[in-house]
Order: sequence, then structure tokens, then C-alpha cells
Amino acid sequence: MSDRLPLPSHQLAALQDAMTERESTIISGVLQQPDYPPLAACPSCGHAPEQITSKAEAPRYGVYEDAVLVDFAPCGHKFRAVISLEVP
Ligand SMILES: [Zn+2]
Repeated sequence: MSDRLPLPSHQLAALQDAMTERESTIISGVLQQPDYPPLAACPSCGHAPEQITSKAEAPRYGVYEDAVLVDFAPCGHKFRAVISLEVP
């Protein structure tokens, strides 16, 4: 897990917004694969990825937080965003 960069929650939110936006553009425009809009740029290197994978982190003993793991390909940057359940 040490190779993952921390992703601030506002960046995770921006990323999710961008992905939702992109999806609705594809759906509303009935776009086919080569016409898809580009994915959101990698927050670390700024390269446009070909694939973004995000999944919930598996629970681990002694870790009392929920996190989302986000992987960018092909640049290979991996992020971990903690989702805080308590809003200050
Ligand atoms: Zn990158």
C-alpha cells in the first residue's frame, strides 16, 4: 500500500464528477468507442489515461476508515482516497 499516493477527498470528488460527466456525454450523444471524450487526467503526472479503475479498499484489521483505490493506466499512478464518514 506504500506505493499509493494520497488523494485528497476534493480531488476524488472532482474525479468522480468528471467521470459521471463523461458518461452522460457518451450516453446523451450515443457515442461509439473512438469518439469517447478523454478520461480525466492523472492528478500526479497530468497525462490523459486510457483507463481509470476505482474500487473500495478491502477492510483491514486495525484500519478504521473507508478508502477508495484509484488506479490510472498506462502511467501506472495509484492513489488512495480516504472517505471520511464524519463531516466536520
Ligand atoms: Zn500518472
